[in-house]
Amino acid sequence: MHEASLVSALCDQIDRAVAPHPGALVRVVHVRLGELAGVEPELFRVAFETLREGRACDGATLSIVHELAEWRCRACDAAITRGAALRCNACGGAARLARGGDLFLDRLELEVPDV
Ligand SMILES: [Zn+2]
Repeated sequence: MHEASLVSALCDQIDRAVAPHPGALVRVVHVRLGELAGVEPELFRVAFETLREGRACDGATLSIVHELAEWRCRACDAAITRGAALRCNACGGAARLARGGDLFLDRLELEVPDV
């Protein structure tokens, strides 16, 4: 399952981020999910709740921010309107996906115990 491998990579990333803060609890995990990332949010959530067990993010809340796809011209970097032919209005160049093509960890909310 695609979502499971993404969650597994996400948990690894969180473990590494938390490692320098011994005793810190991860409260909220904020991720950005692009509309063209090919990830089903509900499956992702279920995978997260299953795979986080015993990891740094065990017990954390998952917050998913959906990111719309954004296209830009490969040649001149002008923004390209959605729904058009995905060609640049300025120079006719081909489109590239600038945003919304993947899933990434945006930030973590940590609770660090008093020293
Ligand atoms: Zn262009």
